[in-house]
Amino acid sequence: MAKHRIAVIGIGKIAQDQHLPVIDKSPDFELAACVSSRGVGHRDVPVFRTPAEFYKAMPDVDFVAICTPPGVRHGYVREAIDAGKDVLLEKPPTSTISEFEDLVAYGEKKGAVLFQTWHSRYNAAVEAARLILKSEGVASVRIDWRESVRKWHPGQDWVWEPGGFGVCDPGINAMSIFTRIMPFAVFVEKATLRFPANRQSPVDVEIGFKSTQKHQPSLSAGFNWLEETGEIWTIAIETRKGTRLLLEKGGTVLKVDGVETVANPSEEYEAIYERFAKLLKKRKSEMDGSPLRLIADAFLLGARENVDEFHW
Ligand code: NAP
Repeated sequence: MAKHRIAVIGIGKIAQDQHLPVIDKSPDFELAACVSSRGVGHRDVPVFRTPAEFYKAMPDVDFVAICTPPGVRHGYVREAIDAGKDVLLEKPPTSTISEFEDLVAYGEKKGAVLFQTWHSRYNAAVEAARLILKSEGVASVRIDWRESVRKWHPGQDWVWEPGGFGVCDPGINAMSIFTRIMPFAVFVEKATLRFPANRQSPVDVEIGFKSTQKHQPSLSAGFNWLEETGEIWTIAIETRKGTRLLLEKGGTVLKVDGVETVANPSEEYEAIYERFAKLLKKRKSEMDGSPLRLIADAFLLGARENVDEFHW
């Protein structure tokens, strides 16, 4: 079968690190164009400065992957739907819940296939953990998500703007695993958001969660963006049967009672494009907003503290 021709919109770090090379080797997709306000291209495909120019010039390309920051995603996705495209969205979906819900409704109304990706979910270790929690229940979960903003978002000032999410940009990846593996609903109970005195989004966040489970499992998460010793992306879980699980390295490794049971190389974006192809075949959207809702609730409930200024 012919490959799906797709354009990538927003040729920044994640488009260049993952989307473009993964599309290049995908059995299902073929890169048709790049849309870049700075004119950044890839191989010899045409480059357009705006989505509107691309939609006008290449109306036969039916698919787009939107890899911009979340602040502009709502407008870009609506524009893509209006142009008759099916859309893959990077995370975080949008800056607000109401924008996200609008996209879900608008996509349904217009018959577009929308796929909200949560890349950290595409790991065998995450699925293995989910199955254990489903059978053994949860006594406690502690999430630690610490990394260097200078390494992962070098010079990207949008992350520090209102709506830029701050450290919740990586933290929402942890929430995407958490909401996938938990066998019951979780709610934000309290949060502390620490903002650099000269910035508009938090550099450090601590969240306490609650549930409606009678045994009141202890559930918490801490995100920090100034970790310079390497990434700490771990989720430590104790089941009600006493089994200790450790999801490490962003959900790629699972240890059960200290023994490594799953350790696959990260192929998250390969799996994302495979999933998009399956959704297109079924003409089915997949738009899960649960990680965004938890982060939004942390902002709604969170206490603010000012901490040291941040400078690149
Ligand atoms: P980035 O390097 O800043 O790239 C984003 C690109 O989007 C820009 O280079 C720009 O591309 C385009 N853009 C359009 N409107 C923009 C605006 N108003 N402000 C800034 N850029 C705008 O960011 P990124 O790290 O690739 O992140 C993009 C999205 O991917 C975010 O939602 C992020 O959470 C997600 N993500 C990032 C990583 C990572 O490792 N950094 C990992 C997974 C997911 P043009 O100049 O080509 O138009």
